[in-house]
Amino acid sequence: MNTRLHPTALITGVAGQDGSYLAELLRDRGWTIHGVSKPGVEGDSIDAHVVRHEVDLSDAGTAQGLVREVEPDYVFHLAGISSVWRSWNDPVLTTQVNGISATALLDACFTQQEASGKRVVLINASSAEIFAGSGVSLQNEETRIAPTSPYGVSKALAHNMVQIYRSRGLEATNAILFNHESPRRPDTFVTRKITKAAAAIARGTLDTLELGNLTAVRDWGWAPDYVDAMAAMAEYGKGDDFVIATGQAHSVADFVSTAFEAVGIDDWRAYVRSDSEMLRPIDSARMVGDAAKARDLLGWAPTKDFDEIVKSMVQFDMTEEMAA
Ligand code: GDP
Repeated sequence: MNTRLHPTALITGVAGQDGSYLAELLRDRGWTIHGVSKPGVEGDSIDAHVVRHEVDLSDAGTAQGLVREVEPDYVFHLAGISSVWRSWNDPVLTTQVNGISATALLDACFTQQEASGKRVVLINASSAEIFAGSGVSLQNEETRIAPTSPYGVSKALAHNMVQIYRSRGLEATNAILFNHESPRRPDTFVTRKITKAAAAIARGTLDTLELGNLTAVRDWGWAPDYVDAMAAMAEYGKGDDFVIATGQAHSVADFVSTAFEAVGIDDWRAYVRSDSEMLRPIDSARMVGDAAKARDLLGWAPTKDFDEIVKSMVQFDMTEEMAA
């Protein structure tokens, strides 16, 4: 019999942007939280309430042992290599970390549910990148899965595997997340790279910003909103696939222009160089999502628009810049 007052969650990737926001959200709801981080990851970004586990999830036995020990009601699988750029440099590791770990965790949850008779609900952080080659510009849950990068392939593997385990009786959900940003986004992503650089250029500590493709179009949302969506999926409880996106399309150049405007620079082109060395072998030109299903079934809607997201990030980086 389950005598717990509050649910127990297991969050993989708890030290990352989404994992840290989710841990805070569930902590405020009184949940017990276990968090997985890669061995060697520093714990500074991990909430003090989280019971930490430093393990490698791509080992099937490790995943089984962890789920057996924690006995989670909810599993949020957010861990993985999150950079499309990095996946081009290390496709084998990306496949192992993103594809195999998800499979090991799904199998561990399924085994645990079978052995205990107690339901385990799993939310997997899937990605818009699985639709990169679909040729459709407003993408939803029915869009053809057609990845164009090693990252996209690894996420497609996990996405399909979630559906396999769902068909076997696990309430497993794919949160198909479009790009989502915050001051916790590492600067390996273009948004944070831009907001940090805009703050540094405004302060006079940097001269130029070198970027790759300025014409790519993305649907940028606010990371805490996307974490709220995953919590709503857990509450919904029934395994399904949900696109989480704002539906708003902006180019990288739009992002630069809005960020520079926020620090009082109108002629951003004077400070930005596009370097062909930074172009990717294949880059999805346009990724925009239709989150109507999440709105209808989960009551989810984004709370911050593009301008507010850029300004919040710039403001944070200006404060950091002043403190430096
Ligand atoms: P992604 O959509 O998950 O790959 O997120 P990123 O933030 O890494 O990249 C978003 C878009 O920005 C892609 O189309 C990149 O090609 C483009 N981009 C342009 N310059 C840069 C850069 O300097 N760094 C990164 N990470 N992306 C860049």
